[in-house]
Amino acid sequence: MNFSSKLLEHAVEEFGKLPGVGKKTALRLVLHLLKQSDAEVGRFTQSIDKLKQEIKYCKTCFNISDMEQCEICASVKRDHGLICVVEDTRDVMAIENTNQFNGVYHVLGGLISPMEGVGPADLKIEGLIDRVKTGNVQEIILALSATMEGDTTIFYLYRKLKEFDVQISTIARGISFGGELEYVDEITLGRSIATRVPYERNVS
Ligand SMILES: [Zn+2]
Repeated sequence: MNFSSKLLEHAVEEFGKLPGVGKKTALRLVLHLLKQSDAEVGRFTQSIDKLKQEIKYCKTCFNISDMEQCEICASVKRDHGLICVVEDTRDVMAIENTNQFNGVYHVLGGLISPMEGVGPADLKIEGLIDRVKTGNVQEIILALSATMEGDTTIFYLYRKLKEFDVQISTIARGISFGGELEYVDEITLGRSIATRVPYERNVS
Protein backbone atom coordinates (compact mmCIF):
# COMPACT_ATOMS: atom_id res chain seq x y z
CA MET A 1 0.00 0.00 0.00
CA ASN A 2 1.38 3.41 -0.98
CA PHE A 3 0.32 6.06 1.47
CA SER A 4 0.16 9.76 0.69
CA SER A 5 0.94 10.55 4.33
CA LYS A 6 3.20 9.05 6.99
CA LEU A 7 0.59 9.91 9.67
CA LEU A 8 -2.03 7.99 7.75
CA GLU A 9 0.33 5.06 7.30
CA HIS A 10 1.14 4.88 11.02
CA ALA A 11 -2.52 5.01 12.03
CA VAL A 12 -3.39 2.25 9.56
CA GLU A 13 -0.48 0.21 10.86
CA GLU A 14 -1.81 0.44 14.44
CA PHE A 15 -5.38 -0.46 13.49
CA GLY A 16 -4.04 -3.33 11.39
CA LYS A 17 -2.58 -4.88 14.55
CA LEU A 18 -6.08 -5.52 15.91
CA PRO A 19 -7.34 -9.10 15.60
CA GLY A 20 -9.34 -9.72 12.46
CA VAL A 21 -8.50 -6.33 10.95
CA GLY A 22 -6.67 -6.43 7.65
CA LYS A 23 -4.88 -3.50 5.97
CA LYS A 24 -7.93 -2.54 3.87
CA THR A 25 -10.30 -2.53 6.83
CA ALA A 26 -7.73 -0.61 8.86
CA LEU A 27 -7.60 2.06 6.16
CA ARG A 28 -11.40 2.27 6.03
CA LEU A 29 -11.62 2.70 9.81
CA VAL A 30 -8.93 5.37 9.90
CA LEU A 31 -10.52 7.35 7.05
CA HIS A 32 -13.85 7.08 8.85
CA LEU A 33 -12.36 8.48 12.07
CA LEU A 34 -10.75 11.29 10.11
CA LYS A 35 -14.19 12.43 8.96
CA GLN A 36 -15.55 12.60 12.52
CA SER A 37 -15.56 15.75 14.64
CA ASP A 38 -12.73 16.40 17.11
CA ALA A 39 -15.15 15.73 19.99
CA GLU A 40 -16.14 12.39 18.52
CA VAL A 41 -12.55 11.26 18.05
CA GLY A 42 -11.73 12.59 21.52
CA ARG A 43 -14.39 10.36 23.07
CA PHE A 44 -13.02 7.41 21.13
CA THR A 45 -9.41 7.84 22.22
CA GLN A 46 -10.41 8.74 25.79
CA SER A 47 -12.47 5.59 26.19
CA ILE A 48 -9.44 3.48 25.27
CA ASP A 49 -7.10 5.50 27.51
CA LYS A 50 -9.49 5.26 30.43
CA LEU A 51 -10.08 1.56 29.81
CA LYS A 52 -6.38 0.79 29.90
CA GLN A 53 -5.61 2.98 32.92
CA GLU A 54 -8.60 2.33 35.15
CA ILE A 55 -9.71 -1.20 34.45
CA LYS A 56 -9.38 -3.64 37.31
CA TYR A 57 -9.35 -7.38 37.56
CA CYS A 58 -11.54 -8.88 40.28
CA LYS A 59 -9.24 -10.00 43.10
CA THR A 60 -11.26 -13.19 43.51
CA CYS A 61 -12.15 -14.41 40.02
CA PHE A 62 -9.92 -12.18 37.82
CA ASN A 63 -12.82 -11.11 35.65
CA ILE A 64 -12.59 -7.60 34.20
CA SER A 65 -14.28 -5.21 36.60
CA ASP A 66 -14.62 -1.56 37.61
CA MET A 67 -14.13 -2.50 41.24
CA GLU A 68 -11.74 -4.54 43.38
CA GLN A 69 -14.34 -7.28 43.44
CA CYS A 70 -16.69 -7.89 40.54
CA GLU A 71 -20.48 -7.76 40.87
CA ILE A 72 -20.81 -11.53 40.55
CA CYS A 73 -18.33 -12.29 43.33
CA ALA A 74 -19.92 -9.62 45.53
CA SER A 75 -23.44 -10.97 45.05
CA VAL A 76 -25.06 -12.90 47.92
CA LYS A 77 -27.57 -14.37 45.48
CA ARG A 78 -24.91 -16.44 43.73
CA ASP A 79 -23.79 -19.90 44.76
CA HIS A 80 -20.18 -19.39 45.84
CA GLY A 81 -19.64 -23.12 46.22
CA LEU A 82 -19.94 -23.60 42.48
CA ILE A 83 -17.11 -22.23 40.37
CA CYS A 84 -17.15 -22.19 36.58
CA VAL A 85 -13.60 -21.99 35.19
CA VAL A 86 -13.32 -20.16 31.85
CA GLU A 87 -10.63 -18.87 29.53
CA ASP A 88 -11.54 -15.19 29.47
CA THR A 89 -14.14 -12.51 30.04
CA ARG A 90 -15.94 -13.27 26.76
CA ASP A 91 -16.87 -16.67 28.17
CA VAL A 92 -18.26 -15.13 31.35
CA MET A 93 -20.42 -12.85 29.18
CA ALA A 94 -21.59 -15.76 27.02
CA ILE A 95 -22.51 -17.92 30.02
CA GLU A 96 -24.22 -15.02 31.83
CA ASN A 97 -26.33 -14.49 28.71
CA THR A 98 -27.72 -18.01 29.01
CA ASN A 99 -29.27 -17.19 32.45
CA GLN A 100 -28.63 -20.85 33.31
CA PHE A 101 -25.78 -20.46 35.74
CA ASN A 102 -26.04 -19.16 39.29
CA GLY A 103 -22.54 -19.96 40.53
CA VAL A 104 -19.42 -17.84 40.34
CA TYR A 105 -16.49 -17.81 37.91
CA HIS A 106 -12.75 -18.11 37.73
CA VAL A 107 -11.09 -16.48 34.72
CA LEU A 108 -7.79 -18.14 33.77
CA GLY A 109 -6.72 -15.47 31.33
CA GLY A 110 -5.80 -17.97 28.63
CA LEU A 111 -5.16 -21.66 28.03
CA ILE A 112 -2.01 -23.75 28.38
CA SER A 113 -0.34 -23.71 24.98
CA PRO A 114 3.22 -25.01 24.61
CA MET A 115 3.11 -23.88 20.96
CA GLU A 116 2.56 -20.28 21.99
CA GLY A 117 4.77 -20.51 25.05
CA VAL A 118 1.91 -20.24 27.54
CA GLY A 119 2.53 -22.35 30.62
CA PRO A 120 0.48 -22.92 33.80
CA ALA A 121 2.40 -20.15 35.60
CA ASP A 122 1.10 -17.62 33.06
CA LEU A 123 -2.50 -18.36 34.04
CA LYS A 124 -4.50 -17.61 37.20
CA ILE A 125 -4.31 -21.22 38.37
CA GLU A 126 -2.82 -20.61 41.83
CA GLY A 127 -5.70 -18.27 42.58
CA LEU A 128 -8.14 -21.06 41.76
CA ILE A 129 -6.31 -23.55 44.00
CA ASP A 130 -6.39 -20.99 46.83
CA ARG A 131 -10.15 -20.66 46.46
CA VAL A 132 -10.56 -24.43 46.62
CA LYS A 133 -8.26 -24.65 49.65
CA THR A 134 -10.72 -22.58 51.70
CA GLY A 135 -12.95 -25.64 51.66
CA ASN A 136 -16.05 -23.69 50.68
CA VAL A 137 -16.12 -24.96 47.11
CA GLN A 138 -18.24 -28.03 46.31
CA GLU A 139 -18.01 -28.17 42.54
CA ILE A 140 -15.79 -26.89 39.77
CA ILE A 141 -17.06 -26.80 36.21
CA LEU A 142 -14.27 -26.65 33.63
CA ALA A 143 -15.94 -24.76 30.77
CA LEU A 144 -13.05 -24.52 28.36
CA SER A 145 -12.92 -24.65 24.56
CA ALA A 146 -13.01 -28.03 22.85
CA THR A 147 -9.50 -27.54 21.46
CA MET A 148 -6.11 -29.12 22.14
CA GLU A 149 -5.25 -26.21 24.44
CA GLY A 150 -8.60 -26.56 26.22
CA ASP A 151 -8.10 -30.28 26.77
CA THR A 152 -4.51 -29.82 27.95
CA THR A 153 -5.64 -27.18 30.44
CA ILE A 154 -8.53 -29.35 31.69
CA PHE A 155 -6.17 -32.27 32.24
CA TYR A 156 -3.67 -30.09 34.09
CA LEU A 157 -6.37 -28.56 36.32
CA TYR A 158 -7.82 -31.99 37.04
CA ARG A 159 -4.46 -33.24 38.27
CA LYS A 160 -4.05 -30.17 40.46
CA LEU A 161 -7.56 -30.30 41.92
CA LYS A 162 -8.22 -34.00 42.40
CA GLU A 163 -6.52 -34.07 45.82
CA PHE A 164 -9.20 -31.73 47.16
CA ASP A 165 -12.67 -32.73 48.23
CA VAL A 166 -14.36 -31.07 45.29
CA GLN A 167 -16.38 -32.42 42.40
CA ILE A 168 -14.87 -31.67 39.00
CA SER A 169 -17.05 -31.63 35.91
CA THR A 170 -16.72 -30.52 32.32
CA ILE A 171 -19.42 -29.03 30.15
CA ALA A 172 -21.14 -31.43 27.80
CA ARG A 173 -19.42 -31.15 24.46
CA GLY A 174 -22.32 -30.61 22.14
CA ILE A 175 -19.77 -28.13 20.99
CA SER A 176 -17.81 -29.41 18.03
CA PHE A 177 -14.11 -30.04 18.39
CA GLY A 178 -12.21 -26.85 17.79
CA GLY A 179 -15.29 -24.89 18.77
CA GLU A 180 -14.77 -21.70 20.70
CA LEU A 181 -17.09 -21.15 23.61
CA GLU A 182 -18.08 -17.61 22.77
CA TYR A 183 -19.51 -18.58 19.39
CA VAL A 184 -21.81 -21.27 20.68
CA ASP A 185 -25.45 -20.21 20.73
CA GLU A 186 -27.00 -19.47 24.12
CA ILE A 187 -29.36 -22.44 24.18
CA THR A 188 -26.61 -24.96 23.42
CA LEU A 189 -24.25 -23.35 25.91
CA GLY A 190 -26.93 -23.19 28.62
CA ARG A 191 -27.81 -26.84 28.08
CA SER A 192 -24.17 -27.92 28.07
CA ILE A 193 -23.74 -26.39 31.53
CA ALA A 194 -26.95 -27.93 32.85
CA THR A 195 -25.96 -31.38 31.54
CA ARG A 196 -22.32 -31.18 32.61
CA VAL A 197 -20.58 -34.47 33.31
CA PRO A 198 -18.11 -35.51 36.02
CA TYR A 199 -14.58 -35.41 34.71
CA GLU A 200 -12.97 -38.80 35.12
CA ARG A 201 -9.71 -39.83 33.63
CA ASN A 202 -7.41 -42.67 34.46
CA VAL A 203 -4.37 -40.99 35.84
CA SER A 204 -1.51 -43.17 36.85
ZN1 LIG B 1 -15.12 -11.74 40.62
